[in-house]
Amino acid sequence: MPDMNDTIAAIATAIGPGGIGIVRLSGPQALKIAEQIFLPTQGKKSLPFKSHKVYHGHIFNPQQRNRDVIDEVLLTVMRAPKSYTCENVVEISSHGGLMAVKAVLELTLQYGARLAQPGEFTKRAFLNGRIDLIQAEAVLDIIQAKTKSSLRVSTHQLKGELTVELEKIREDLLGAYVRLEALVNFPEDGIEDRGRKEIALHLNQAKSKIGSLLNVSEQGRLLREGVKVVLCGRPNVGKSSLLNVLLKQPRAIVSDVAGTTRDTIEESAQIRGIPVQLIDTAGILSPRDVIEAEAVKRSHLHMQSADLVLLTFSASEKLTDEDIQIAKSLDGQNILVVVNKSDLPAILNDDDILRILPERQILRVSAFKKQAIDELEEAIEANVLHGQSVDTTNILLTNTRHIEALKDAQNFISESQQFLQNNLSLEFISENLKHSLSALDRITGRDIDADLLDSIFSTFCIGK
Ligand code: GDP
Repeated sequence: MPDMNDTIAAIATAIGPGGIGIVRLSGPQALKIAEQIFLPTQGKKSLPFKSHKVYHGHIFNPQQRNRDVIDEVLLTVMRAPKSYTCENVVEISSHGGLMAVKAVLELTLQYGARLAQPGEFTKRAFLNGRIDLIQAEAVLDIIQAKTKSSLRVSTHQLKGELTVELEKIREDLLGAYVRLEALVNFPEDGIEDRGRKEIALHLNQAKSKIGSLLNVSEQGRLLREGVKVVLCGRPNVGKSSLLNVLLKQPRAIVSDVAGTTRDTIEESAQIRGIPVQLIDTAGILSPRDVIEAEAVKRSHLHMQSADLVLLTFSASEKLTDEDIQIAKSLDGQNILVVVNKSDLPAILNDDDILRILPERQILRVSAFKKQAIDELEEAIEANVLHGQSVDTTNILLTNTRHIEALKDAQNFISESQQFLQNNLSLEFISENLKHSLSALDRITGRDIDADLLDSIFSTFCIGK
């Protein structure tokens, strides 16, 4: 467990060429370190540094005799508790690129700061009570957001909207718990029935709120984690062309020589706001060499873990044995049949397809003419979201950790409801309610063990 009394420092901006690079300091010594290595243009009258002010000046190494300037910088001061971490925070904005920021960081370490661990700034914000765990995780999600929609949902969570919703559920559970304890501790004849009814009411309310959140949680999770869509079909039906169209830029080599794609191609795309990992498989059934054998193996692995398989046929040809064999190998998968090359005279008809793939949705598109691509994207969205659309203005659960904890809470409540119905002892119900409250508190971080906390923050980048 790192020492919370240390002053920590890290580069807060991405490493690489850029206009500005920021070194961030947080902790009791942050201002003192800044005073030692920063020469304000306004001289001593800038001291002591005022909170929420920006100072122009130079970073220099006081130990060097000629006091060479390391860089011209702007220094931003945020005194505790009005800062990101609730501690004294100093941000030194130097020129971007690697050398200037690294030199500034090294100097802060020389003058008493310690290199921050991944996520340590945000962890301090959490431990100092400025944000809860949902908000801390939302910070990470914002940094890692792959689409505008997932960014929007994370921003809602950072604002604390999910926390407010969970707080309402907590109040219902606490209401039930308080009523229950009163019954246990002050058993009076005649009031137990009424008490049990009140408890049941609170539990129903909590469960229905949890139900509403869980109902759209799968959509939220997909928005955050993305989905895997695999293009599969025999060589030359136009898988690579479809991949390029869905990516909205050429990536895969398109050629009329069958078997041009000899390995799987993986790309990230956005389809209707959903982050999608698109995979173009080699489409080979009988590998001719070890490279192709490896490609076939990888294709199968991808197909097994796919959220959706786009099984592609060519509209200008009858189904071949190869097509049928590939379709059979996808038994049990979530399949969308894509008939490509529909700009050419139609030879393949839907009945032929439905004979081997009964009741499957069939979409006719042309990658070449970019026809019906909108419809294809719509069908992909509907398929992975199971027909429900994602309303990013809603409060959405996106994080698997939150979803699992909420399901735990829900299970404990259901059990309590059964105990109530079966007139079981109130002590049993009380124990269950405590478990459901603690499941809720795991989400916000009110009740969380140190190891889990460390593992959550270790996924952050250094400097955040
Ligand atoms: P893959 O082997 O399944 O990845 O197929 P490719 O994407 O490499 O395409 C094979 C050939 O079909 C290329 O010559 C493409 O230009 C052509 N092709 C792909 N899509 C279409 C389409 O929608 N219409 C027509 N007419 N040709 C297409």
